[in-house]
Amino acid sequence: MHPSRRPLIAGNWKMNTTLADAHILADGVRQELEHEEKVDVVLCPPSIWLGFLAERLGPGKVAHVSLGAQNCHPEMKGAYTGELSTEMIKEVADYVIIGHSERVQYFHEKPDFLLHKIEAAFRAGLTPILCIGEVEQVAGSTKKLVQELNHIVRSLTHAQLEQLVVAYEPVWAIGTGNVATPEYAQEVISLLRTVLTEKTRILYGGSSNDENARGLLAMPDIDGFLVGGASLKLKSFVTMVKIADQLA
Ligand code: PEP
Repeated sequence: MHPSRRPLIAGNWKMNTTLADAHILADGVRQELEHEEKVDVVLCPPSIWLGFLAERLGPGKVAHVSLGAQNCHPEMKGAYTGELSTEMIKEVADYVIIGHSERVQYFHEKPDFLLHKIEAAFRAGLTPILCIGEVEQVAGSTKKLVQELNHIVRSLTHAQLEQLVVAYEPVWAIGTGNVATPEYAQEVISLLRTVLTEKTRILYGGSSNDENARGLLAMPDIDGFLVGGASLKLKSFVTMVKIADQLA
């Protein structure tokens, strides 16, 4: 972490939780993290729960705890069955995850489509969390990743690049327990920063949890986490935020 950037920890619940689970988790986060004001906490439940959780945590409710959607569509409205526009999401959330590797893998989302989603997020006043990461650790994969990121963000303004949140998520580390070493994550993230700005917050994602958080956050370019599995465990998620708050 670097003192010039505010830490951010986002929990991606994916397609998990009942409505009752969602309330328990969100209430727990709000109660346990009331005083951890140095960290931006973002909960990304299944979209269908956003409206319910927004009653307690939505835009303007608890300053440092916000809601985010897991996906959006780039168009404002129209015949896109099953999709949600950024204007709709903005009614109940402040952030949106874009380009998660599961959407790239299962729904074949392409870089230009992701750029349109980022633009739509900014138009609606949402903060996009753009995910990027190599599928395998092979020679040249980091260079390719930097080019890929540059391709996606190339037409954004400097101010938008500063507001954008990027999550470096090596696909081989997601849900595998095979977390990247702090040194490896730092090296890749510092290279990704060369096509962003000094103010852009860059998160690490991939099997992060309360046990490895401290080592990763000790790295100067890692500004927080996008958390999958551990975000469904209240104690683990809360501990990660408390560690970031102590180090901030
Ligand atoms: C993710 O899916 O974005 C993720 C980081 O998952 P996990 O923490 O479970 O590896």
